Amino acid sequence: MTVRGKNGRPRTIPAPESEKLSRQVPELAFIDPDRYDRVIRLLVERNAKYKRSESVRNDPRAGIPKRQTRWPGQHLRCGVCGRMFVFGGHGKTERLMCTGVREYKCWNALTVSGPDAARAVAERTRELITDLPNIDNAWGAEYEVQRQARLVESHDELNRLQRELDSATRKLANLFDLSEKIGASEATVERIREAELRIAFLKDQMHLVQREQQNHPVLPSLDEIKLIANDVFSELAVESSEFSRQMHNAIDEFFVLPYQLVDSGHIQPRLTFQVSPFKLVNDFSCDSLPIQTFDCVVDLAKKPKRLTHLDDVVRMVGQGMKHAEVASQLGIFKSEVGYAMKLHREMVALGVDDPWVPVVSVEQAREHYKRVRNPRFDFKPLEGFETTRHPKS
Ligand SMILES: [Zn+2]
Repeated sequence: MTVRGKNGRPRTIPAPESEKLSRQVPELAFIDPDRYDRVIRLLVERNAKYKRSESVRNDPRAGIPKRQTRWPGQHLRCGVCGRMFVFGGHGKTERLMCTGVREYKCWNALTVSGPDAARAVAERTRELITDLPNIDNAWGAEYEVQRQARLVESHDELNRLQRELDSATRKLANLFDLSEKIGASEATVERIREAELRIAFLKDQMHLVQREQQNHPVLPSLDEIKLIANDVFSELAVESSEFSRQMHNAIDEFFVLPYQLVDSGHIQPRLTFQVSPFKLVNDFSCDSLPIQTFDCVVDLAKKPKRLTHLDDVVRMVGQGMKHAEVASQLGIFKSEVGYAMKLHREMVALGVDDPWVPVVSVEQAREHYKRVRNPRFDFKPLEGFETTRHPKS
């Protein structure tokens, strides 16, 4: 029923039980109730893996609308607390931020540009697939062995179901004969109904086995994957829903992680993700074997000058050039040369090749983010995020 809300707009609410009118019209049912229940049960089972978590407290999609957003919205997650990154970070529609941060439950308060992230990840994935040297042969062979075994299994299963179906069909025909000869008693009508249900059930089962067979196609070749990747990355717009669907298939473990230069400075985002090139091939799935994946990283950090020129500065100073000479050759300030050398010394002292170091604790974040210093702040990561998802080096 419809009522007027405080704002004067009509609002639909469930009618009270006493006002509900209902009437049974079985003659309008076009699907047998038992069959309907069975189909609904199968659908619920099949779609269970896509539904939201029962526990609101540990649902990474809590508070996220169900409508589609531009990729990487509804895909990119916080590598610190496990929640989704959503559009609208720091009041800017194009930027994504962790929903946990909004609720004062996460300290990973950086934002990333949605379009920049989409472009960088798409570019890295395209490069990865273009340069794929080969498919792991041992994996491919094992896949084929399992595929053949499944085919034999489902072939046997189909034969068995077909035999049962034949028998059920004969039984139904006999029942019809019987009812024609001696008239349809109530018991015969009931048996005819049962036989019809049995036939519908067996047909459903055969349909399921046939679908299952299609889930185990021949392993696509590297050339096929490259061809499809080429289509995806050169033909589809990054903002399109088709591109988003492909990325959801092929990319997993997609996280934003905070990093900082070894000599401190702003906290900057790095994206880590796992690419499964096989999954770019439509509907390719393999439940029994872990599909070959590749770990990738892209930096969304704005590179400060000392980092852009780090290699050149270190090489030139190593050759004995004065800071002023290096600065004039590279077209930067002398102070930048000094900062670059300082960064280099700290990297040497720590024994690291990567100038970016992971930010892994709330203490490190506190001095950078006001939100983390707010009394309301209470770090509550989702289950499985007791430590951050920084890749182990
Ligand atoms: Zn978070």
